[in-house]
Amino acid sequence: MKTIASAAICVGLAVAVCARAGAPFSFDSAPGRLPKNVVPVSYTLDVVPNLDTLTLTGSESVTLQFRTASDTIVFNSLNETLTDVRLDHKPVATVVSNDEQQLTRLTLAQPAPPGSHTLTFSYSGRVESQPHGLFLQSYQRLDGSPGRLLSTKMESTDARRMFPCWDEPAFRSSFQLSVTIPAGWQAVSNMPVARRREAGANSAITFQRSPKMPSYLVEFSAGELGHINASSDGVDLGVWAARGREQDGAIALANARQILADYDDYFGYRYPLPKLDSIAVPGGFGGAMENWGAITYNDQLLLLSASSTVANRQRVFSVQAHEMAHQWNGDLVTMGWWDDLWLNESFASWRAAKETDQRNPSWKWWQLQDADKEVAMSADARLSSHAIQQHVSDELQAANAFDPEITYSKGQAVLRMFEAYLGPDRFRSGVRRYIRARAFSNASSADLWNALSVANGASAVNAASGASIGAVASGWTEQPGFPLVSVAASCDAAGRRTVSLSQQRFLLRGSDAAASHWSVPLQVRAGIHATPFSMLLTSDGQSGAAGRCDEPLSLNADAIGFYRTRYDAATYRTNAANFAALEDGDRIALLDDQWALVESGQGPLRDYLALASSMGSGLNTRSWQQIAAALGTLEYAERGTAGYGAFTDYARSIIKPAAGRLGPAPAPADTPDVQELRRLLIGDLGAWGDQDVIDDARRRFGLFVGDHSAILPDDQPHILSVVARYADAATFELLHAIARQAKDETEQQRYYSALMDVGDPQLAAQAAQIALSPELPPQAARWRLALVVRLAREHGPLAFRTFTDNAETLLSPNPKYAPLITAQYVPAWFWDAVPPDQLEAWVRAHVPGQMAPNVARGMETARFRLSEKDALLAEADDWLRHR
Ligand SMILES: [Zn+2]
Repeated sequence: MKTIASAAICVGLAVAVCARAGAPFSFDSAPGRLPKNVVPVSYTLDVVPNLDTLTLTGSESVTLQFRTASDTIVFNSLNETLTDVRLDHKPVATVVSNDEQQLTRLTLAQPAPPGSHTLTFSYSGRVESQPHGLFLQSYQRLDGSPGRLLSTKMESTDARRMFPCWDEPAFRSSFQLSVTIPAGWQAVSNMPVARRREAGANSAITFQRSPKMPSYLVEFSAGELGHINASSDGVDLGVWAARGREQDGAIALANARQILADYDDYFGYRYPLPKLDSIAVPGGFGGAMENWGAITYNDQLLLLSASSTVANRQRVFSVQAHEMAHQWNGDLVTMGWWDDLWLNESFASWRAAKETDQRNPSWKWWQLQDADKEVAMSADARLSSHAIQQHVSDELQAANAFDPEITYSKGQAVLRMFEAYLGPDRFRSGVRRYIRARAFSNASSADLWNALSVANGASAVNAASGASIGAVASGWTEQPGFPLVSVAASCDAAGRRTVSLSQQRFLLRGSDAAASHWSVPLQVRAGIHATPFSMLLTSDGQSGAAGRCDEPLSLNADAIGFYRTRYDAATYRTNAANFAALEDGDRIALLDDQWALVESGQGPLRDYLALASSMGSGLNTRSWQQIAAALGTLEYAERGTAGYGAFTDYARSIIKPAAGRLGPAPAPADTPDVQELRRLLIGDLGAWGDQDVIDDARRRFGLFVGDHSAILPDDQPHILSVVARYADAATFELLHAIARQAKDETEQQRYYSALMDVGDPQLAAQAAQIALSPELPPQAARWRLALVVRLAREHGPLAFRTFTDNAETLLSPNPKYAPLITAQYVPAWFWDAVPPDQLEAWVRAHVPGQMAPNVARGMETARFRLSEKDALLAEADDWLRHR
């Protein structure tokens, strides 16, 4: 048990010590800023928002458990004024709220004894205009008239903006919420409505009491909402949307039924709440939030209309699968503190990808996820990268922990790697044990490793070394980076191959002074279609049998592992000679690794281009995405140089055989991944100056102007992009008029995005103005930034000026992510827009000093891109001259 004084020591640098890395969750040693001697058990809240003054009044009653006698009570508050504060009906002695510290401290006239006490108070606070806490969102109704609705976004530390509370994840409590809203509005919260009372112009609604949960999962939305619902195994599933749009939630409702059934089974623990609502918020924040029983989505991530594409449908399913996985990993079992955020986010990401793949095999979802894994590996190949588990001591660091590349994508990939290593059944039994053991409570990484170890037995991990799963896995979550595994093969007289393996940290630039080391769970495929086998690489020089020397070898079968592989020259030649015949995943891994070796200066460009050429007319989408991205990087480096024409001739010649095989128009038998491949290849041929493709895009746009059904929604992005790239003023204005007239946000996003691809510099200046203009509806505020970033692809300095002149406006729809975006992503987006020192100076001036590590990551990416551009240009020109 901790006193206030000893708990206070856990703030700041000492948190890492207090967290005791590797220990199972315990409430007393969970890090955090609040003392643990007074613990909330249940809240009863009554909130009355005023939509005109953007204020709220509330009354709150909290049942508290005093674990020791105490004369102080400390909890979180922000921008709130508390009045009539009483403990057990007696006024407290002092009330001090400090918005800087986001704390309220109460002192009592006398210490209260251990046991149950009731804290009551009234308070006033704010309704926010940006999506944190309780916020008011403006949007355009279907008929074009202005509408408003209320919603919440509490994670990580913004529940305190709506009501004073113990706003840390270890303080699980039950919540009963009452709200007063305009009559005629509908309201949704975590639990079903218990009663609704009409009172003149208002309605008073009380929801049922929630189970014990962290404050960051509290949800409340209200507005002119419509909904559809279905019952699934006793759970009421609902989709809510701005009235008139609810039928656009039909596919999401059907998805939710599938996903709930699958997760009930997978986790071996039935979804425990009576209902699960999905709420489509127009505008608001850009993603979705897994509030228990009431998931909120930006409506573009939930609703699908006739103008939606396969990519839209994929995004809806995968985001739903992510948020619904959180109902177990996050809501039923919550990380004890934000340094274990990966237990929420990596798990939900991995589980969602697995679910999306299982339910939609024609999407080849794991292959498409390889693109995200490559982005994560590129980020993690920086010297300044960070571990999946990272120290968090305050609100800013809690927000910054939501790093999409490491916390989400690397975490997902590492979990997949361990699932493959242990086998899906044994992995699942560990997950079930973990969920069962920690249900309605919190957990640490050690709890997960222990559950996986018990479920599998230590011998299942590594009979040779006896290493526990925790010992193997924590190397991947507690240190940054990943290894490059080097393979040296030898052959005996009969042609049998033995490989000797070694590892070092893979970096794009610089060297690893820490001499990092991993236990690497390799998946080895020896032979083209052989079944992979597992091998745990623990020590340098470790050797093993690996098939025959005349057969190809993959040390990362199906591209599952989060490591890179470099083969000796003879093995590489065998792999390259069999390139077209390899399993898709093995070919993808080879392309990824060879390109990464080029980028890091450890492999010749000619080897990579030889692989790309040998794709021929093969039709694997992810392989072509990888090649198109690499050729695109080279094309960008060549711009403005004498070699540009020769290079783009060459780049087009690489992708034309596959594009020719597919033809310009969809065929009825095409699966979604093949359709996507056609669009990718046509778009790149257009971008790289193929006159036939440009002419055809213009012809089809001519028809589209008169009849929008002339181009399928799925085909619009790449065709309109080609049109914009070569547009004259009249064509640009035609496209602009189409964007202005669009009523559906999915279409608006598509058309305005295409405008940002314009090639002409004067029209680009117009595009920048359009991205900022009030012609965009209010719910578009959050994607203005994406438009400016897209403009940077062709017009870096203009886009950077546009961004810096309007940074506050562009970032305001992302209050939680704004510092992380500024520090890490602005340098990556605008790496060649201005000299790096100027870029860094701007970034440093716009984030708090404690974000220096994040700025270092962003600037390492920017400086790498600059040096890579020079290196690739020289190598590509040399290769073109001598090929
Ligand atoms: Zn999530």
